[in-house]
Amino acid sequence: MAGEQGGVRSDVSLAGTAVAPGERRQVDIQIAELSSGFPVRMPVHVINGCHPGPQLFISAALHGDEINGVEIIRRFTRLTALRDLCGTVVAVPIVNTPGFLYQSRYLPDRRDLNRSFPGSHDGSLAGRIARCFLDEIVSGSSWGIDLHTGSHHRSNYPQVRASLDSPEIEAVARAFGVPVVLNAGFRQGSLREAANSLGVPVVVYEAGEALRFDEAGIRAGVRGIIGVMQHLAMLPVREDHAEPAEPLVLRSSRWVRAPCSGVLRVIEPLGAQVRRNQVLAFISDPWGMTDTEIEAPADGVIVGRTNLPVVHDGDALFNIALSTGTQIDARALDDFSPLEQYETGETADLARAERQIV
Ligand SMILES: [Zn+2]
Repeated sequence: MAGEQGGVRSDVSLAGTAVAPGERRQVDIQIAELSSGFPVRMPVHVINGCHPGPQLFISAALHGDEINGVEIIRRFTRLTALRDLCGTVVAVPIVNTPGFLYQSRYLPDRRDLNRSFPGSHDGSLAGRIARCFLDEIVSGSSWGIDLHTGSHHRSNYPQVRASLDSPEIEAVARAFGVPVVLNAGFRQGSLREAANSLGVPVVVYEAGEALRFDEAGIRAGVRGIIGVMQHLAMLPVREDHAEPAEPLVLRSSRWVRAPCSGVLRVIEPLGAQVRRNQVLAFISDPWGMTDTEIEAPADGVIVGRTNLPVVHDGDALFNIALSTGTQIDARALDDFSPLEQYETGETADLARAERQIV
């Protein structure tokens, strides 16, 4: 895939399909065949800008039930701002198409695609999708944004996870504009790890819950992609662009687990700033005879939680991004209001994309 030769825009090609400068196309990549004989395809939007610039890939639903990212990409591809695109966007709304069909995180062979990279062309279905994604999408790109949600019955507060050892990656993570940026090590077999080893940095956006739309998380996701593209000089910054508050950059996170079984009553919401020993929730027996307090283990921000009120001893309840040694500036949390009404210019473009009017 090449979009530029000597500063002059040229076609980009993906899986044998050429996309000219100023053109957009949907390319269906054939990956494998299911036992029923139905093909496994990966639909890819290729948007080739008129002006030179980097190539960015945006992926969603590597976990087939994490559907917020599918909607984020749908709205994103409708933005009129893309007429001024510098470089190329390769957007893959559903990477794990079998999992998406069956509303499952996994593939039919029960493998986790995001633990199956780099994969191979003659491996399992997960390995084949992973290999194809690396070869066709990642290897021609300079940056990537991978969209996720919390897993089954768990919600994540809008956050970007990235390797913050690199100042360049941290700058891109900050440009996403959500209140929490969390340092995350590389998980073996993940897309982020495999892309990084090819020299393609990836930031992961997490928001909401599997199999649910989270409107605030979706809007923040579309704006976040625009913010990153403006940072990479792929989109111009409009006059009415409102700069988001500086995010909280936190280095680690920790799950708080249930110390007993029972019925969970949550006191503190997602995104709450909490202090060490602050009560986050109670676990009661079903007759209300006992109450056990669940306390924050340290200062931080609640960035993930279970949505199940019935819990067992040892279940993960809250994910706290720890602010050890960091003074929390709550402005990023207080100012975060992606559900506010859109007005003019840049935000009107977002509203149009939401209502499917191009
Ligand atoms: Zn995921």
